[in-house]
Amino acid sequence: MKITDVECHILVVPDLQINATSSSQDDVVIIVRTDEGIYGVGETDTGPWLVKAAIEAPGSHTMALCIKEMLIGMDPFDTSAIWEKLYTYTAMSGRRGAVICAMGAIDMALWDIKGKAMGLPVYKLLGGCHKDHITPYASLMPTGNSIEDYKKSLIDWTVKAKQYGFKAAKLECILGGPYYHGGLRGSDEDLTEIVTACREAVGFDFDLMVDVGYLWQDVKSCLRTIRKWEDLDIYFLETPLQIDNLEGYAHLASASPIRIAAGEWQNTRFEFIDLMDKGMIDVAQPDIGRVGGLTEALRVAHLAQDRGKLIVPHCWKTAIGIAASAHFAAAIPHCPFIEFLPATLCESALRRELAPDPLVMKDGRLALPDKPGLGIELNFEALEKYSVASQSVMPLV
Ligand SMILES: [Mg+2]
Repeated sequence: MKITDVECHILVVPDLQINATSSSQDDVVIIVRTDEGIYGVGETDTGPWLVKAAIEAPGSHTMALCIKEMLIGMDPFDTSAIWEKLYTYTAMSGRRGAVICAMGAIDMALWDIKGKAMGLPVYKLLGGCHKDHITPYASLMPTGNSIEDYKKSLIDWTVKAKQYGFKAAKLECILGGPYYHGGLRGSDEDLTEIVTACREAVGFDFDLMVDVGYLWQDVKSCLRTIRKWEDLDIYFLETPLQIDNLEGYAHLASASPIRIAAGEWQNTRFEFIDLMDKGMIDVAQPDIGRVGGLTEALRVAHLAQDRGKLIVPHCWKTAIGIAASAHFAAAIPHCPFIEFLPATLCESALRRELAPDPLVMKDGRLALPDKPGLGIELNFEALEKYSVASQSVMPLV
C-alpha cells in the first residue's frame, strides 16, 4: 500500500469567538489517501493554518523538506519509520510546535489506515487492551459575570454530570492568569469557595479534578491555597503554574497534597521527559494530536510507566481525537481516565457534527471501540460546511 495524497481541511464554527478560551471552535482535519482506496483521518489541536503550512510548504534543503512530498509513495504501515523520517528532515523548521502537531494528525490518520486495512480496532495494533472499559471524565466550563453566578454555574454542571452518569469531572475554574474566561477575575479565596461548593454538591463518591489554567506565578501562592483543599479529595490539580517553570513544578509536586497534572501543550516525548524528570509532575496529559500522534503518545506512556506516573490524555476537539484517546487509553494500563464530553452536551458545532461518537457512555463507562481503525465515520457534508474555503465570513485566508 502506498500513500497517494494528504489533504488538509481547515474548519471553523461560524460563531467563532476569538476571546473565548476554547479550542473546540476550530479544527484541522487531515485525510491521508492510499492507492488501495483506504483513507485515514486525523486531527490536531493547534492553529489550523499553521498545520496546513507545515504540511504543504515546499522544501528548500535537507533540514527543511516538504512533509507532504516526503509522505507520497510511502507505506502507511511504516508508522515509526515515517515519524522518524518526518522528524529528521524537518529538523530546522520543526522538532517542536506546529510541525509536531501536523505530524500528530498525520500519524493518527496512518493508524486509522492500518486498522481499516487489517479489519482491527487501533487499540489491538497498539498492543491490545488492558481493561474491559474506559472511564471518561467530563470537563465542565462554567459561565457567569459574577463569582456567585460562576459558582452556581459550575455547581449545576457538576451535579448535571453526575446525573448524566459520569463518575468523574474536571472543574475548569480559571479565575486569573493569562487565559481567564471573559474578564471575570476571582481571588484564591473565591477559587477555594467554588471548589468546596462543588465537592459538597456532588458528594465524595465522585472523582473531581481541578484545572486552574496556569493561574499562579509562584509556588507558595499555589501551596497556600491548595493546602486548604486537602480534605476535598481532589484527584489532580491541572496546570497550576506557567508551563516552562519546571523548577516550580518540581517544588510544588514535592510539597503538594494533591497530584499535579500537566502536559496538554507538550510536543514530543522529549518535552514529557523534562516535565516528568525535571518538573516531577504526577500525571502526564499528552494530547494525541499535539504530542506527535499515537506513535509518540505510546512512547510517552512507556516513559511514564517506567517512572510510576499516571497518564490522562488531554482531548478537546472532535470525535476523531476522542477516538484516538480512547484507543490509546485501552492499550495503556496506567491510564485511569480520558477527557470526554458527549457531543450532545457540547456547544461546538464541530464536535457535534463532524463525526458521530463511536463511544457510548453507560453507567459512567465507555465500551471499548470495536470498529476497524479509529472507528470514525467522517461526515463529509459537515467537513464541507465548516471548511474555511466555503465560508465567506472568515477574512483570515
Ligand atoms: Mg487544561
